[in-house]
Amino acid sequence: TALTTPALVRTTCPYCGTGCGVLGGPSPVTAGDPGHPANHGRVCTKGSALGETLSLENRLLHPMVKGERTGWETALDLVAARFRAAIETHGPESVAFYASGQLLTEDYYVANKLMKGFIGAANIDTNSRLCMASSVAGHVRAFGEDIVPCCYEDLDEADLVILVGSNAAWCHPILFRRLTDARARRGTRLVAIDPRRSATASDCDLFLPIHPGTDVLLFNGLLAHLARIGALDKAYLERSTAGFPATLAAAQQDAPDVETVARGCGLEVALVEAFYAAFAATRRVVTVYSQGVNQSSHGTDKVNAIINCHLATGRIGAPGMGPFSFTGQPNAMGGREVGGLANQLAAHAGFTEAADLDRVRDFWRAPRLAERPGLKAVELFNALGEGRIRALWVMGTNPAASLPDAARVRAALESCDFLVVSDCVAGTDTARHADVLLPAAAWGEKAGTVTNSERRISRQRAFMPLPGEARPDWWMLTQVARRLGHGAAFAYDSPADIFREHAALSGFRNERRLFDISGLADLSDADYEALDPVQWPVPAGQRAGTARLLTQGRFPTPDGRARLVPVRQAAPAHAPSTAAPLVLNTGRLRDQWHTMTRTGEVPRLMAQAAEAFVAVHPLDAAAAGLREGDIADITSAWGRARGRVRLSDDLSAGQIFMPMHWTDEAMPFGSPGRAVNPDCDAVSGQPELKHTPVRLSPV
Ligand code: SF4
Repeated sequence: TALTTPALVRTTCPYCGTGCGVLGGPSPVTAGDPGHPANHGRVCTKGSALGETLSLENRLLHPMVKGERTGWETALDLVAARFRAAIETHGPESVAFYASGQLLTEDYYVANKLMKGFIGAANIDTNSRLCMASSVAGHVRAFGEDIVPCCYEDLDEADLVILVGSNAAWCHPILFRRLTDARARRGTRLVAIDPRRSATASDCDLFLPIHPGTDVLLFNGLLAHLARIGALDKAYLERSTAGFPATLAAAQQDAPDVETVARGCGLEVALVEAFYAAFAATRRVVTVYSQGVNQSSHGTDKVNAIINCHLATGRIGAPGMGPFSFTGQPNAMGGREVGGLANQLAAHAGFTEAADLDRVRDFWRAPRLAERPGLKAVELFNALGEGRIRALWVMGTNPAASLPDAARVRAALESCDFLVVSDCVAGTDTARHADVLLPAAAWGEKAGTVTNSERRISRQRAFMPLPGEARPDWWMLTQVARRLGHGAAFAYDSPADIFREHAALSGFRNERRLFDISGLADLSDADYEALDPVQWPVPAGQRAGTARLLTQGRFPTPDGRARLVPVRQAAPAHAPSTAAPLVLNTGRLRDQWHTMTRTGEVPRLMAQAAEAFVAVHPLDAAAAGLREGDIADITSAWGRARGRVRLSDDLSAGQIFMPMHWTDEAMPFGSPGRAVNPDCDAVSGQPELKHTPVRLSPV
């Protein structure tokens, strides 16, 4: 099954968490893979342009030390020596890895094992922290494990789909197509809840332009309303959950009636009533949530407010229903599976249970297992700036542009004793600060697996040779691990070796967790090469996956019950003020990916927006003395970004929007990260990228 035609290789799109199968060939051409169940051959604008992103222009092709080309041996020896020196002098917690949802699961596995099992610290975090950490935390609180219960067929089979903080039409276009197809075929109703009239909101049947940061109030109001009208599933609550009375009491305190909700959320009463009535009247409801929910100082509470409504009505674990987190990145889910977040251990094991620590320690034969969580992304770069992190390895991401309070992040990178950056592109804002640059294999050159939003593990396959001296990330990490004296534990020769070990760990003394792919632990190299997309879990003795989870109303908690979590509406971390009267919202464009290192190379993708812009309501523009096409400064208490004014009433007056993609390299001050506040959700550590008070002024 590896090849559809002799010239085309089945692989997976490297962009969003939809995880579309694509066919790649050396021509270079790319097309959708008709045999992949995530997309059945469809691709969006970004996916269709993949073949145009494969040039070697701007590639990092050789190891570099302090700007001078060197050989791999010299570079790797230096990396190992400096990490060893920092560990010996300042302890294991003085070093860190910062990884990316672009890494393949095998890369992540090796990085996580090296840091948590052999260096002895849990300081490995990832840009996925910026993407879906609040969903992970919400899942763990409700289900006992980071579980996405739904599958894409549920989108086909739902009668009502609620999209909360999700511009799926641009950010997960193939999934949104699936929803509009379902609407055409079976009359599925689509509801959008978002402060911004996004492309998604414009194409939904009902749009609630909610006041920023009031999602908890809206869903607490829904729970209280469902209780009032007797629309809860009492049998399910009794049989499968705990925590309902306190959760309902909290919801009722926030939302005694619909009018209170409407007032707090800035919505018309009739709109709120229509939404509540649609939920109450429809059994098959899927609630999709994405970065608009997650990127908040109360993101985890928002996730749980949504899940509470599904648990209280038993709308979970059956066809066409459930809470459904759409992940942003191609392998955010795969990273979570191996423990690529600082508060996870590995294979969905955490740091709180002794049995988990023993399980991972014994499996890895780890000499120095980390026993407590490490630093989450924003904390990690704060520690870097304070000199507590002495050596940092950044893999496949550009935190100088993408993290909030970017000026502080840049200063921290500059002050770092020893910075390693492995990437496939040269000259990123982060790479400029590096002591050592390591050339990484890019999409089309590297091989491994990724996991999409519906838990489907798919192969990325190489269809081009490695250019220059580029190497896969897992290889670099393995080489450094061997130099640190851990050769026996890192004796991998291929991604297949790593995958088999990862799969075996997932089933090792696993008594409760649903993440179990030990059925794939005995794949031969040929089986791995030919692996068809498969949804976890795949327990021992199986090769087939599992489409939908939680179907029996049993949860991976000690007592088998889900938890409803009492949550209360709370304001974002920073309120607008006279000095900063507007709220800055950030997000993706349809045709760009992250910091545009790949999509920025394609003229037809750049045609959607040639430069950084700021969408401003005409009233706010007039108040600031700005007109369409002017350049504006966007200034907050943390810094200043810049963009060309686009007048728009997609947001209410008082709110502005900037795309997240521009870096200073692409356009001076084009990165909104310069202005975004660094406050984080206290549970998940996810930054509040969608709500920063700012002021606008002409340049
Ligand atoms: Fe790639 Fe996402 Fe587009 Fe699919 S929807 S082709 S995964 S960017």
